[in-house]
Amino acid sequence: MELTRRGFFKATALAFAGSMAYELSTQSRAFGLETGEAADDWKLVNTEEYTNICCYCSGGCGLICSVRDGELINLEGDPDHPINEGCLCPKGAAMFQLRNIVDDKTGEIIHNPERVTKPQVRRPGGTDWEDISWDDAIKEIARHVKDTRDATFVLEEDGVTCNYTPAIGSMGGSQQNSEEEYLILKLMRSIGIVAIDNQARV
Ligand code: SF4
Repeated sequence: MELTRRGFFKATALAFAGSMAYELSTQSRAFGLETGEAADDWKLVNTEEYTNICCYCSGGCGLICSVRDGELINLEGDPDHPINEGCLCPKGAAMFQLRNIVDDKTGEIIHNPERVTKPQVRRPGGTDWEDISWDDAIKEIARHVKDTRDATFVLEEDGVTCNYTPAIGSMGGSQQNSEEEYLILKLMRSIGIVAIDNQARV
């Protein structure tokens, strides 16, 4: 087939118009209401957005959690977050399942029964984890830290003042923000802990 100059421009214009029509039609499906669809049918209607950080690897990708009446409705990457700019890897994208799962039998979304919602402790020599209240957990941790620090505190080494304990370490997580890490560092230094690291560096 011989293609004239006029025919080439006509074909190009038709192809452009076709692709624009497709683009606009798909966008209207993605961002607008279908004919007859009520606004109340939108998954995210009447939700509040909270930003959060993925709890898995040290990347610290940002999330938007959409919540209605205290229930998590949707979780997605935060496009305004400087690390992930809205993207999530498959593991992060599946983080919704930490809280909610689909019931095998009914197909309904239910709370994940495996989710750990309380502090737990495994006593020395024990094989099972037992639930413990937050108050008791904090008291026990404080008592262990104080006892260990007092028993191992080094005031001086080779005539040099040291004031540290080699028996306790601190590992921060990528989920903590800069202010939280600052406070953790202050606390650790103030009680003589020098073995300090962060998961985000690993
Ligand atoms: S979304 Fe993936 S890459 Fe980002 S922090 Fe979570 S696990 Fe890491």
